[in-house]
Amino acid sequence: MLGFSTLAKKVFGTPNDRKVKATRPVVDKINALEPEFEKLTDTQIVEKTGDLRNRAQTGESLDDLLPEAFANCREAARRALGLRAFDVQLMGGIFLHEGNISEMKTGEGKTLVATFPAYLNALTGKGVHIVTVNDYLAKRDAEWMSKVYTALGMTTGVIYPRQPAAEKRDAYKADITYATNNELGFDYLRDNMQASLKDMAQRGHNFAIVDEVDSILIDEARTPLIISGPSDDRSELYTKMNAVMPEVLDEHFTHDEKTRQVTFTDEGNDFLEERLHEIGILPEGQSLYDPESTTVVHHATNALRAHKTFQKDKEYIVRGGEVVLIDEFTGRMMAGRRLSDGLHQAIEAKEGVKIQPENVTLASVTFQNYFRLYDKLSGMTGTAVTEAEEFMSIYGLGVVEVPTNKPIARIDEDDKVYRTGREKYAAIVEEIRDAHEKGQPVLVGTTSIEKSEMLGEMLTEADLPHNILNARQHEQEAQIIADAGKLGAITIATNMAGRGTDIKLGGNVDFKAMEAISADPEGDPEEIRKRIEEEHKADEQAVIDAGGLYVLATERHESRRIDNQLRGRSGRQGDPGRSSFFLSLEDDLMRIFGSDRLDKMLSTLGLQEGEAIVHPWVNKSLERAQAKVEGRNFDIRKQLLKFDDVMNDQRKAIFGQRLEIMGAEDINEITQDMRHQVIDDLVEQYMPPRSYADQWDVDGLHEALKTALALDLPVQDWADEEGVDDDAIRERIAQASDDYMAKKAVDFGPDNMRQIEKQVLLQTIDAKWREHLLTLEHLRSVVGFRGYAQRDPLNEYKTEGFQLFEAMLDSLRADVTEKLSRIQPLSPEQQQEIMRQMQDQQKAAQDAADQATAAAERAVDPAAAAAPDATPGFDETDPATWGNPGRNDSCPCGSGKKFKHCHGRL
Ligand code: ADP
Repeated sequence: MLGFSTLAKKVFGTPNDRKVKATRPVVDKINALEPEFEKLTDTQIVEKTGDLRNRAQTGESLDDLLPEAFANCREAARRALGLRAFDVQLMGGIFLHEGNISEMKTGEGKTLVATFPAYLNALTGKGVHIVTVNDYLAKRDAEWMSKVYTALGMTTGVIYPRQPAAEKRDAYKADITYATNNELGFDYLRDNMQASLKDMAQRGHNFAIVDEVDSILIDEARTPLIISGPSDDRSELYTKMNAVMPEVLDEHFTHDEKTRQVTFTDEGNDFLEERLHEIGILPEGQSLYDPESTTVVHHATNALRAHKTFQKDKEYIVRGGEVVLIDEFTGRMMAGRRLSDGLHQAIEAKEGVKIQPENVTLASVTFQNYFRLYDKLSGMTGTAVTEAEEFMSIYGLGVVEVPTNKPIARIDEDDKVYRTGREKYAAIVEEIRDAHEKGQPVLVGTTSIEKSEMLGEMLTEADLPHNILNARQHEQEAQIIADAGKLGAITIATNMAGRGTDIKLGGNVDFKAMEAISADPEGDPEEIRKRIEEEHKADEQAVIDAGGLYVLATERHESRRIDNQLRGRSGRQGDPGRSSFFLSLEDDLMRIFGSDRLDKMLSTLGLQEGEAIVHPWVNKSLERAQAKVEGRNFDIRKQLLKFDDVMNDQRKAIFGQRLEIMGAEDINEITQDMRHQVIDDLVEQYMPPRSYADQWDVDGLHEALKTALALDLPVQDWADEEGVDDDAIRERIAQASDDYMAKKAVDFGPDNMRQIEKQVLLQTIDAKWREHLLTLEHLRSVVGFRGYAQRDPLNEYKTEGFQLFEAMLDSLRADVTEKLSRIQPLSPEQQQEIMRQMQDQQKAAQDAADQATAAAERAVDPAAAAAPDATPGFDETDPATWGNPGRNDSCPCGSGKKFKHCHGRL
């Protein structure tokens, strides 16, 4: 019997059906235009673009232009690539244009789909970004699809790491720009560290189409992009803080052994406050509970942790004047590894060795917040529906399931559950042998690099030839994936690997042709290609006869989406195929969820050694467990995002101000306002409102003005005059400083003065902002500890984050005012020196960004990060065994330096 909702869906259709149906008339319109566009000459196609551009830029809506634009694009693609877009591809394109996620299965041709909305939206002249998961795909897709854009009279750009600045700017100026999410994010951060508009690479965030959108917006959303660099020297703070620690008594703190967290008690806080006042770390009158004390509290807590939870020769040793951590499981030294957030420095202070500078965040952004910058966002993937709620609530993106061009013929088998991992793997090897013997290609999905290698060894023992996909080399990956559909091929892959390349039955004809052509340089490429295409038909048929691609998964992933990705590699464009999951009660997911009941069921059934249980009920219960884990992971990401939102609002405000300043001709008005505000604050401080003249601290004001404005003003005389109030004094100060600055502008020359004001303001903003980021990081770790006081850490973070931001602005005003007041005309040499320093700073930021790119790549695939150690034969003393370390990776010799500064020095 059907349930009510299933019944209702049958009668009314699902919301998704209705969305799909609604695009039908538009698709019909495009189809009706086809004969007309087929008649256009190549030149007329380009002219059509010109016409559409004009209309778009004179107010006609893109929705109105859509049918003609799509018809033109379809025709251009047919000529340029020999591919005529299917109706479902047009539909996918329409949903993208509407700002949705188009869920389209692997092999449906998403690369081509993107060209339609990209072309349409580029008509406005504001640029479109197409986002890919790796550099290889950005380059491949840009090269491939640029043929279409060129035929349409549009330009294509591609962004890649370490691209020369001028080339990068041009690539962003193109109508359509292909780039990875990492490069886009880093360019955004770097742009906001530039000193002038003309050095900025990006020209706004109009429309983005994110390919593999679930990977980028969900899987990678956990690691923010960070540009980091060395901080100022804080050794004195560490040393002073360290000196207090031996006096801390047991009743001054609590210690949680499990989490290695320490927290000061109220008594401890009182003690600390007093001592820190004495040694001058905490200014008089400031309490440890004030937001301004965040950094001090953070350092105090670190110093305490260093003393109470880290033991010399247990957690670390001191060797050659350095604190070296010890791996608690293996007991091996971890040279070069450092604890973060200043904890390592606190231990260095405790041991009295040299305190190394800490690396601090210069700029950071999460992908969530980067992609929310776009006026319109859209995405494509084979698997989004399971995460529809998250896409909607965080990005406002709807998910539409686009029907496949041909019905899916793949058979998805029920899960097979074995009692032990050993039995499971034995069954897997036999299953692979069966398929291999009938010529059916098998793609084996594993959850980690170690497991893929272990299975590889088992297959070698069983005499089964196979390929293992390495998640690092994208280009090789594409080649292995291209071969994965060949007769009898066995390919082991991790979940991360081979994204974005589809597996064709009988192998990839383009790759085969390329190979044959390069193997026979004398031959005629055209003819070779023809011959290969002929041969390929037979290969393809043989694989179809063997049942198509068999996807065999060795475990269920925490997330159903990843399982679906793997399944979806088989059965493209109506191909035959099958998928099957081999599980055991020892798998992580089974151990954690519901294996008790399964276990009982298995013993009731009296399973024999090597037998599996296969039942739809098992699939259902596993999917429920997965949904639970997915929900929990979503909550974690939501929480992270809420914290990041606080910083994001501030970042937007600061970046917005920077942009305005860079773009402005003259910022004198801004600096003058700042100066006046500083004066107001000082007068208020030394001559409180509604106070009597004899309560004024005129001396104090006089001194303060000397520092703040570099002016020695006769405030005492003014104050002694009859009937003078604070307002009058305020005005005289403002007038005097205005005159002083005006004279300076004459001395420098007005043009120079404008430049100087801009540079000083931008540099000070950057310095303050960096310092503020660090404070926010500290605040975040500090508010965590306050949970015990029944206060909501997020609320605390918001309130204090705001207060800190205000305090930062105050100190920004004071600094800018003081610097500008003190500035004196420079000799040409001094000017050169300053230019040189500025260039160095720029370069350091660029280097840091490059380094961060490498770090982010590693973070995306932790298994790959561990690769050097896992490589058989790797020996840190023998460079011949190192392979190809990245220039910005740390040197494999273990020196802790970057490769390029150590063994990789040119
Ligand atoms: P996806 O990213 O959706 O898995 P791709 O964009 O990689 O798919 O394309 C898969 C294959 O389908 C490519 O080889 C491409 O040439 C082919 N293809 C795409 N669109 C069409 C079409 N309209 N007609 C024929 N082949 C197509």
